[in-house]
Amino acid sequence: MFVYSLPMTTRFRGITVREGVLLRGDAGWGEFCPFPEYADTEARAWLDAGREAADEGWPAPVRSHVPVNAIVPAVPPDRAFAMVRESGCATAKVKVADAPGSLAEDLARVEAVRDALGPSGHVRVDANARWSVDEAVGAIRELDRAAGGLQYVEQPCASLDELAAVRRRVDVRIAADESVRRAADPLRVAVAGAADVVVLKCAPLGGVHRALAVAQACGLPCVVSSALESAVGMAAEIALAGALPDLEFACGLGTGALLAADVAPSPRPVDGLLPVPTRAPDPTPSPDLAADHDRTAWWQARLARVGALPPTPRTTPHPTP
Ligand SMILES: [Mg+2]
Repeated sequence: MFVYSLPMTTRFRGITVREGVLLRGDAGWGEFCPFPEYADTEARAWLDAGREAADEGWPAPVRSHVPVNAIVPAVPPDRAFAMVRESGCATAKVKVADAPGSLAEDLARVEAVRDALGPSGHVRVDANARWSVDEAVGAIRELDRAAGGLQYVEQPCASLDELAAVRRRVDVRIAADESVRRAADPLRVAVAGAADVVVLKCAPLGGVHRALAVAQACGLPCVVSSALESAVGMAAEIALAGALPDLEFACGLGTGALLAADVAPSPRPVDGLLPVPTRAPDPTPSPDLAADHDRTAWWQARLARVGALPPTPRTTPHPTP
């Protein structure tokens, strides 16, 4: 077991350091890295995902490579242009609504990203649940124009009812991301008519096998995104993307670049494609990447508490009200 603490290159999701635990088992390495504020009950699925990788391994992939999107944080247009060009990706996800009143900056950033991708590229935006319904409807229409067509907008508002309301009023596809944190959530999204696309992460869903069952049960097109894991946990997410029967959209798996250091060489996309791994890379637990004494103790205690909870069931989940 190794408790890591990795500096990030850009503040993302409000954090500048990513922490987690690497677990070793008969099948290889797995990762346990629920965000610090998550309750133990919610963290249990993350442990199941880590133990799946360490003890059991993943289902066979159906493709050798997966397309990934470039990530463009809330940066000025010239920086956004350069990031997309350097990525080599044909799809870019642009963070918007990062601060109140940011729409003018968002529009300029999205225009720059379209210029960088050219007409054949795909631009999607992610509002991380920051808009009200009316703000979302107005912003999405303007961003769609500025982008020369958006592929989809990720999580414009917080609740399923709001997503469904926005979806009825705009022509752009809606993707649910933050609305999907538990295994039953993709079904709730589908039942509510809240989205056209579901963003899956195998860590919060309890592993690759379980995420595949969730994808099948919800019946919506799925994209796979990272939960900001190290290279070890990222391998599981890429394995999920490699095993999904249908993969219509590029995945949010290029986030290795958000970590300034990693526990193993993180796969970097070549021409926007990542190879699908059969197991996680062996980490090099260097002392520089180790969490300090207090944080290590915190993670060890958390791991022990979460490990004492019953595992999440493998059966296909049903939505609960
Ligand atoms: Mg998102």
